[in-house]
Amino acid sequence: MTHLKIATHGTPVLELRGVCKTYRLGEHVVPALRGVDLALQAGEMLALTGPSGSGKSTLLNIAGLIDRPDAGDVRLRGEAVTGIGETRATLIRRDAIGFVFQSFNLVPVMTVADNVDYPLFLTGRPAAERRERVAQMLQAVGLAEHAKHRPDALSGGQRQRVAIARALVKHPTLVIADEPTASLDSHTADQVLDLMREQGHAQGVAFLIATHDARLLRRCDRAIALLDGQIVDPTKESSNELAMA
Ligand code: ADP
Repeated sequence: MTHLKIATHGTPVLELRGVCKTYRLGEHVVPALRGVDLALQAGEMLALTGPSGSGKSTLLNIAGLIDRPDAGDVRLRGEAVTGIGETRATLIRRDAIGFVFQSFNLVPVMTVADNVDYPLFLTGRPAAERRERVAQMLQAVGLAEHAKHRPDALSGGQRQRVAIARALVKHPTLVIADEPTASLDSHTADQVLDLMREQGHAQGVAFLIATHDARLLRRCDRAIALLDGQIVDPTKESSNELAMA
């Protein structure tokens, strides 16, 4: 299997231009995104805030090539991905995008090591290389001694660290995280965030993180806020209130 190389120097990892998405529910037309522009650089951690229904999940789904915009342009490391077929989108997701979810989404019947290995297994890399990478990643997130345990033997913070290891083990270009600290107490959330920062910077990974968590906002390099499907200036007071809503 080929490993996708879509890198170009100095190009944003993720670029959205004029992205629009409208949902139709019977006669109702719901504009979820209305002309979103966004550029995310390698190594950057960008927080995406905004009240419920403002379009955060829609934006994450489009950035993660899970959903397509109705209009506008999406580029991943310079490659236009708006009109690509599902096979190519699946390959890009497999090789270049990691996902971290609020509820961890680990496979309960698999060991911690097998959960982390799974994305590498999908890339078809040799078993010896996979074993080494999984071991390194578990070491990096401080869970080497839990490699053979199942997720239900771990705390919430440990499970999220496994999920971070799983997202980063394939050395993705972009990690998309949806409320990654929402299920964690604040001390654990801090540890998980520090780990994301440290590992993300070490690998030059770009993070796009939807969050309501003020601590997470402070740890990100930059924050943008969505309101009714449009980006509003988070430095303005009204937007800050909205971001925390
Ligand atoms: P957020 O993640 O900020 O809560 P969403 O992206 O989920 O916002 O939703 C943005 C808008 O799009 C909301 O009005 C929501 O009801 C609507 N929406 C989201 N997904 C769908 C869908 N699959 N079908 C219809 N409407 C949807």
